[in-house]
Amino acid sequence: MRKFFALVIACLLMVTSAASAQYTTEVADSAADMAGAAAEKFYATLPAAKGEYKSSRRPILLEGAMNTETEVFVRALKNPVAYRELNYLFVAGTYKNYPVVVVRTEQGMANAAASTALAIKKFNPIAVINQGTAGGHDGALKIGDIVLGEKIFNCFAIKTSRTAVGTGAELTNQEMRGTYAFDTASGIFQPNKEYFPDAKLFDVAKKISDAHKNFNVTSGVICSSDAWLENLDFINFLHETYGSSCEEMETASVAQICKSAGVPFLGIRVISDNAVHSQAYEPAVATIAQDFTLLVVEDYIRDVLKK
Ligand code: SAH
Repeated sequence: MRKFFALVIACLLMVTSAASAQYTTEVADSAADMAGAAAEKFYATLPAAKGEYKSSRRPILLEGAMNTETEVFVRALKNPVAYRELNYLFVAGTYKNYPVVVVRTEQGMANAAASTALAIKKFNPIAVINQGTAGGHDGALKIGDIVLGEKIFNCFAIKTSRTAVGTGAELTNQEMRGTYAFDTASGIFQPNKEYFPDAKLFDVAKKISDAHKNFNVTSGVICSSDAWLENLDFINFLHETYGSSCEEMETASVAQICKSAGVPFLGIRVISDNAVHSQAYEPAVATIAQDFTLLVVEDYIRDVLKK
């Protein structure tokens, strides 16, 4: 009888924990899907590109994972044409009379890395800006604030300490291994515990944040993985150990590919949720990061590329 009750209680616990584990994602899924529906329709109307991409000037590559994170860019392009490669969507056009390609990377590290690598081969971009939404790790960050990535790392590129069976799934006793990117000096792929933005791109973005006070921008550390973390002790551990300002699912993998390919890179994130304050995912703020990025692009074209 005792065994039976234990079983019933265990089942109940499993059901409730599974339900709570799904809760945030389900809410976020439907909110983002609804917000992205108009963009999906608009993208379907774009003419398909004829033949391979040709441009006398190397384009700027702008990235977002979802419809909500790319719509502002795609609507800002003149003469947009769509390319599809391995089912990823790339839209090429011009912005301020300079060639720009927008890629919808899809969510997650592998998708972001794959679509970035394809875009680098296909379009030969002069610079890559990855941007989108992120969850705050810093209690001071509010929904709608922008984090300029002065440092980026993959928060699950770790080795944990060896522990015995039955001693718990504690992950904070860890060593950062980093991820492998090609290193020009040694001619081989080397581990990187962190990645850094291109100094010129970062400078332009800093100047934009100083000049446009309607955006609330801080420089900070972006941490990436395929996980959505809601465990506040683990979030605090990442914040205290690595200084993470926010988490998301693409930036570090894109920084890694850009380092390997030798392409200047910048990561920009807008805070869409903050577990520290139990604030749920707000997809609408995705436009803020894109509006800010377009200002960066405009000044980068004028001041760095001198076009
Ligand atoms: N899951 C929803 C909403 C997106 S959540 C959907 O499918 O529509 C995951 C995406 O948002 C990723 O691309 C990631 O980069 C970003 N993101 C925003 N807040 C995040 C958080 N707290 N943790 C991880 N990724 C987050």
